[in-house]
Amino acid sequence: MATVKIATGEGVCGCGCGAETKPKRQYKQGHDARLRGILGRAYKAGESVQFGSGKAQSAESALKEHGFPIPPASKPKAAKPKAPAKSTAPKARKRTAAKKAS
Ligand SMILES: [Zn+2]
Repeated sequence: MATVKIATGEGVCGCGCGAETKPKRQYKQGHDARLRGILGRAYKAGESVQFGSGKAQSAESALKEHGFPIPPASKPKAAKPKAPAKSTAPKARKRTAAKKAS
């Protein structure tokens, strides 16, 4: 099982981006959401996570520890309904016609 390593430490953003943070700040602004995304992806992939030089833990426990909700089980992505290709088809036809003419 893969382990997602999140490089954190004193004065460094908790999401693992490596940016320095202000004293008493665990994350750069908005980076708690970034970490939530990282942990959510790790959770869905069944991977464990490791913060800094700490122990590897399951993504689920890391999510709970940080107060993030457990993401719902991922469903296979539904194929997007095909957009009508009306803009490309006539153009292509025109181009070939022009080529033949010249
Ligand atoms: Zn960050």
